[in-house]
Amino acid sequence: MKPLFDVLIIEDSPADYLLLRRQLERRGVLGRCLHVEDDQALEQALREPWDAVLTDYHLPGMDIARIVRMVRAADPLLPVLLVSGSIGEERAVELLRAGLTDFVAKDAVARIPEALARALQEASDRRELQQAHAALAASEHKFRSLFDSTPCGLLGVDRESGTVLQGNRQARQMLGEVVGRSLDDIVHEQDLPALARRRAHAVAADAAPLQLRLQGADGHGFWAECDIAELAAAGEGEAPAQWVLSVVDITERKLAEDELRISSIAFESQEGLVVLDAAGNIQRVNQAFTAITGHTQKQACEESSTVLLSTGGDDALRRRVWRLIREEGYWQGEVVNRRRDGSLYSAWMTFSAVRNGAGEVTHYVGTLSDISREKEAQREIHRLAYFDPLTDLPNRRLLHDRIEHALAASRRSEEHAAVLLLDLDHFKKVNDSLGHNFGDDLLLQASERMRSALRAGDTLARFGGDEFVVLLEDLGSDAIAAGRHAERVGETLREALARRYQLGAQSLYCTASIGITLFRGRDATMESVLRHADLAMYRAKNAGRNSVRFFEPQMQTELNARNALETDLRAGLERGELVLHYQPQVDDDGYLIGAEALVRWNHPQRGLLAPGVFIGVAEETGLIVPLGLRVLEMACAQLRRWVELHERPMRLAVNVSSRQFRQGDFVESVLRCLRDAGVEASWLKLEITESLMLENIDEAVAKMDALQDAGVGFALDDFGTGSSSLSYLTRLPLEQLKIDQSFVRNLPEVRNDAMVVQTILAMAKGLGLEVVAEGVETEAQLEFLRRHRCDAFQGWHFGRPLAAEDFDDLLRRGVSWSVPPVAEEALRGYGA
Ligand code: C2E
Ligand code: MG
Ligand code: MG
Repeated sequence: MKPLFDVLIIEDSPADYLLLRRQLERRGVLGRCLHVEDDQALEQALREPWDAVLTDYHLPGMDIARIVRMVRAADPLLPVLLVSGSIGEERAVELLRAGLTDFVAKDAVARIPEALARALQEASDRRELQQAHAALAASEHKFRSLFDSTPCGLLGVDRESGTVLQGNRQARQMLGEVVGRSLDDIVHEQDLPALARRRAHAVAADAAPLQLRLQGADGHGFWAECDIAELAAAGEGEAPAQWVLSVVDITERKLAEDELRISSIAFESQEGLVVLDAAGNIQRVNQAFTAITGHTQKQACEESSTVLLSTGGDDALRRRVWRLIREEGYWQGEVVNRRRDGSLYSAWMTFSAVRNGAGEVTHYVGTLSDISREKEAQREIHRLAYFDPLTDLPNRRLLHDRIEHALAASRRSEEHAAVLLLDLDHFKKVNDSLGHNFGDDLLLQASERMRSALRAGDTLARFGGDEFVVLLEDLGSDAIAAGRHAERVGETLREALARRYQLGAQSLYCTASIGITLFRGRDATMESVLRHADLAMYRAKNAGRNSVRFFEPQMQTELNARNALETDLRAGLERGELVLHYQPQVDDDGYLIGAEALVRWNHPQRGLLAPGVFIGVAEETGLIVPLGLRVLEMACAQLRRWVELHERPMRLAVNVSSRQFRQGDFVESVLRCLRDAGVEASWLKLEITESLMLENIDEAVAKMDALQDAGVGFALDDFGTGSSSLSYLTRLPLEQLKIDQSFVRNLPEVRNDAMVVQTILAMAKGLGLEVVAEGVETEAQLEFLRRHRCDAFQGWHFGRPLAAEDFDDLLRRGVSWSVPPVAEEALRGYGA
């Protein structure tokens, strides 16, 4: 029992109050004591702490029920004891309901301490209980708010079933309503085994958190870092009933990690990468950078940005680039850099500024790719496209560019320029006889000679095959001076090329023919320039080669005329304006033995044209092929007519051009003409020239053999004018030689010609060949030829070429030319 009570006594009678107080003091239970007698004093007194209140029942001006309520309002547990006589049961219940603690009868004051003690004990018990409740509530609240305010999600999970029993706010935000869901349903099935393992081995204190894929109630998945802990058991010795699973959403971190990993892989790309700080100091480089530049990360950082844009220490470039990078935040371009070992390389570089959230530049990122190989490839492509692989000289395409350029330049400057076209004389022969390697070697030596004979600024180009072009520019505005200069260059080149060549063991000469044209941009085009040079070059060829010729406007006139003639001839051929005339051939006894078909062009305006006018153009343009075919057709048709008219075979000689003969189907086309006309092949004789042998003699022989097998005969025309060896004569299936009229013309006076004719006749006899003399005009010529055993004759002395009708006339009349007998002594005199 508490020894002393602080008691508040409500009593209106001072005597009663003193009496009560003394009794309590005497029992030694009274501590502090106060006595009040009205509501006001009571209210005042209740502000202080009391252990109990004792109240009288009869209090004038004060209602006992109100007093009880006032006390209760002040302290719900403060014991209030009523000290009074009997008050009736009803009243007692009413007061107990109002909060009265206990009654003490007025005549049993001695029991007051005991009642007080009991009431106080009860109050104290109730107070403790209440405090315990409050403490529990507070702790529960604290836990709740802690549970809810932790930044991670927390799940209380039933140990046995794996069902979530509770979840904090974070957990609900991440996973939706969790209570009642199973962990199996929350954790991705592939991650369940890892979770199960962790649960089975309890929780090691140092175990790293698990990374699991979780799924919210709405189905959305995310990466979470999870830890699992046992919730302490409720009582000692009891197994913990719950797991606590902590959940931290690491999706963003995961993404960032991925990004980091990706960017670090990306950083180590094939391209050189460099990171610089805002001041331009290198912070980091990748391996590709090191591979390209030779600078390691450490070296690059030490030497900093000077290793970039390091071309020959070009500070101006470096400064300009950096200014642009700073101003625009970006720069890209091609630079030539120096590697650590000092070698140079071409690089493509870009720089980009990296800014922070405030827009300030924090870094620069640079990329660097070595484009040396591409550059080299570009150069190679350029070289292939614009340079001749053999001589390394500019090719035709580049030459065209240069000429265009020269034209434009001279248009501005009014200065002359010149083009020299050089063609090696008989290069084809060298190539064919010595082989292409020698040919190439010759071309190389020739180009080298020309190169060293020219100024650095002149263009020397290989135009194709054995043709070269020199372009001379800036020759001044005086045409004469410019022409002299160009001619001097041409002569120098000609002389240089005319010197002896040494090709392996072979030494030989190969001269050049050079055509020159001067031009001024104003009135020239590339086509005209090249055409003029070409014409001049042909002039040089015609002038006997190894010479230099200038283009003259009259050449152009000729060219134009030739072009017009070509067009005209083509049309004439189609319109059937070509006709054949026939010139008699007579034997030693004066008998007509045959004729030569000679083509004429019955031109509607110009009258009858001799072949000299148009055969050349036909040869050049290739028109000779259809023309020759037409002649063959007409000749065969004429043979047919003669057979029908005179029933007597007539040998007809037809001229065949080399170009025509070289056609692949020549043999076939001759045979077809004969077949079509229905005439015997043996009536036809083809006149070929020595030029045919210049090309491919084996092929020529094969064709001739084929035709000869069919019965066609061959005569070698214009014999004696060709310069080639006579040895082929034995190889060709010839029947006849025709001595060229140039030898006959001056017979017998010119001794040289007489010698040639005699020699030809003697040789032909030796080879078993028949000889026909062309251009026999006089009795004296005939006499000389007969005396030397010439077999047959053709010439005005016997008859001019005649139109078909006139020739028919001749045949009808059965003309025979009387030929004088050859004097025996004359024959002897020549040793026959
Ligand atoms: P060629 O084959 O040597 O023909 C002989 C040329 O000498 C003919 O000239 C003929 O008229 C001429 N002639 C004949 N006798 C005399 C004479 O006594 N004195 C002189 N001064 N000349 C005489 P043409 O008809 O002008 O033919 C010239 C050349 O044209 C021919 O020379 C031949 O190479 C060529 N030719 C003629 N017709 C043809 C043809 O159909 N095809 C081909 N490819 N060439 C032909
Ligand atoms: Mg002839
Ligand atoms: Mg002839």
